[in-house]
Order: sequence, then structure tokens, then C-alpha cells
Amino acid sequence: MNTTELICKKRNKGILNSEEIRFLIRGYVTGDIPDYQMAALLMAIWFVGLDRRETTDLTLTMAASGEQIDLSSIPGFKVDKHSTGGVGDTTTLIVAPLVAACGGLVPKMSGRGLGHTGGTLDKLESIPGLSVHHSIDSFKRIVSDCGLAIIGQTADLAPADRLLYALRDVTATIDNIPLIAASVMSKKLVSGSDAIVLDVKTGNGAFMGDIGSAEELARTMVAIGVKAGKKMTALITDMNQPLGNAIGNALEVQEAVQVLKGEVAGELKTVSLALATQMLLVSGIGVDEVEVCRRLENALAGGEAFDRLARMVRAQGGNPEALADPGLLPRASRQVAVNARKTGFITRVRTAEIGQCALLLGAGRQKKSDSIDPAVGIRMHKRLGDPVQKGETLAVFHINKEDHRDEALARFQQAVQIGDSRPAARTLIYKTISN
Ligand code: URA
Ligand code: CA
Repeated sequence: MNTTELICKKRNKGILNSEEIRFLIRGYVTGDIPDYQMAALLMAIWFVGLDRRETTDLTLTMAASGEQIDLSSIPGFKVDKHSTGGVGDTTTLIVAPLVAACGGLVPKMSGRGLGHTGGTLDKLESIPGLSVHHSIDSFKRIVSDCGLAIIGQTADLAPADRLLYALRDVTATIDNIPLIAASVMSKKLVSGSDAIVLDVKTGNGAFMGDIGSAEELARTMVAIGVKAGKKMTALITDMNQPLGNAIGNALEVQEAVQVLKGEVAGELKTVSLALATQMLLVSGIGVDEVEVCRRLENALAGGEAFDRLARMVRAQGGNPEALADPGLLPRASRQVAVNARKTGFITRVRTAEIGQCALLLGAGRQKKSDSIDPAVGIRMHKRLGDPVQKGETLAVFHINKEDHRDEALARFQQAVQIGDSRPAARTLIYKTISN
């Protein structure tokens, strides 16, 4: 087989067969195919696309490029959850202990935040002492003991994805549905779960701006998972404002704890319960949706979900006291209120821009190598549709360094639009897709 001919075939709208896809991916991982040829192929794919069969072959080949984590020695049904990424999206820290409290097992490998979106590993690391680096044996032990564990991806998990992602990042080929689906699913398929529930975000804070693309991404990932023998469900949920009110690592941990303790309700709780419900339903625990919801509410009200998170934090080396006493979490030195410049209603929130404001304060990273400040971030006081008086607090910035403070404050004012009339009610959960 000849790499140049295969690039040409894809460029000319051809369909690559299974053997050709394996040749290209394996050749890239071994170094036989250089970056410049893979870059050209990725750009051809960006323009021409991949059909479902090609996308599945790509995913399976990427998955097979590294280790397959075997969790079969742990009795019970293992269910994973993945979000395509958002702002103030702290669902994992709520959903994983909730599902564990109701008898599911949640072995989860998470990622870090990049650009305007946050990452679960960064949030967890704001808990003093907690480590997200564990061997597979230790990962299994924590899952057995606590019902859940959340760790970083091991170096040998789908190495083809790591190489391809780095190349896509610098060749403007990230934003492509088949490539995103293959990237996400190659890692999910080998991390040892029996089922995967996907939270595909849509809106101005998500990768997928419109519902049509979010649905196409969801359907593609569900089809790949089913082909690989997994039980799959995807929810399509709204990301036209931060999901919770906190944006920033320690602030989001605090908010997750408040939801687990039943102290706050709202959209973060609603989406978390919807995901947890799907995770328990795919686990086949033999009860209907009404009963699943009742068990989840009991796990919150009875404190069992909170206890599960505390157990996991201890097992991963962290101080569980920090969950009950936010004074033990990193705290920013100053709080600055952002006030409304006029009276009206919140009519639009540019969500990705709010994420960028938190990033400017130090809560996120622009490049993978950037360091972050776990204490800083933004707490929103108003949500879409809320009435607001001139001078009222829209949000509070938690700040340590003055560097980009004024820029962040100015950009935040621009990102929150106040209009004269109340906007129409919005949908939070658009669709549920399963096989
Ligand atoms: N997250 C991933 O893991 N891969 C992508 O391609 C996009 C988001
Ligand atoms: Ca993520």
C-alpha cells in the first residue's frame, strides 16, 4: 500500500477500506508515516468526511494501539460517563458517587481542561493531597472498595489518539465529527467499562454549536460503541450558559458537594440526575425509571452519595475533610463583584467567553503545559432569563493575581447581555439517544 495514493483516494472522495485504515494508523504510530502525510490525510478527512464504517474502523484501530484495561476481576456492572466538555460542567463529581451509592461501579479515566472548558482531573487536584495518578492495580482496588475511582489516562491508553490529537491540534482539524467521535470512543472502549453514557453538549459553550451536529456526533459515538459490544446512551444537553454557577476548580468542587448534600438544586443537579438515571438504566439493575429516580433522590437525601465521594477522596490520598469544610480548599485572596450596568433581563450569555474569562484569572490553560491556579474563578449570581437591577451583582470573581483582571472584567461585561424583555424559556435536555 502507498500512503500518497491513500491520501489521494480520500481527497478525491473515496472510501478507505478497513485494511487501508489499519495501514495508515499503524504506520503513523510506528513512525513509518511522517507527520506531513498524516496532516494531509487529516485535512482530506476534514473536507471529505468518513462514513460510519470508516469511522468505526478508525476507532477500533486507534483503540487497539495500546493496552486494554481488564476490570473483569471486579464483580458488578461497570459504567462510564463522558462529557464532550463545557463550562461549569461538574457533573462527573456528582454523578460518579451517586451511581456508586445506588450499586453501579464507576471506573473513570478523565482528562484535563483545555481552552475554555474545564477538566475533572484539575478539579479533583484542588482537593489537598488527592492524586489522579494511580497504577491499574490501585485503580481496580479503589473501584472495588469505593464503587468509583477517577484517575488520569495511562500513557498506554490509545497512544494513537494522543499522537493524532496533538497533530490535529496544530493543523486545524480538531472540529470534525468523525475525528472527534473516534478520538473519544477509542479511549472509552479500552478503559474497561460495560456501558458508556455520553453527555453531548450543544450551544455557545460547546464544541458543537448547533443541535444537528451534536446529534450527529452522539449518533456516531453510540453506533461505534454498540459495534464494539458496549451498552450506549447519549443525552444532548444545553451549554448556552455555564451549567452550574461555579467556574474554576476548587469553586466547582464546592458546588458539586453542595449538590451532593442537597443544599443546591438547579440545572447542574438536573443534568447530573438525568445522566445518573441513564447510567443505572443501562446497568440493567432491573427497575424502571421512576424507581431509579427514587433511589437517586434517596442517595442524595440520605448522604450516601456524599459519603461515596469522601471515600474515594480518601482512597486517592486526599483529605476528605476538605469536602465538608471548604476552608480547607485553596481560596483566592480577593473577591471582586461584577455589577449590572442596566436594569432588565439576562437575555444571552456567551458561555465560551465566560470560560475564557476564568482562564484569564488562571483557572484554565491555553496550552497543555500551562499551570493553573486551583483557587481562582468566577461564581455566577444570575442565570439566563433572570431579572436584574442596575448595580446588582452579576457574578463574583475570585482572584489571586492582578495580571489579566481588568481584561477579564471587561470581557465578562460584554459576555453577559441584558435586554428589556424576558427571553423565552429554554430546553435543558434536548434528546436521549440509545441503540
Ligand atoms: N476530546 C477528545 O478526547 N478528542 C477530541 O477530538 C475532542 C475532544
Ligand atoms: Ca472533559
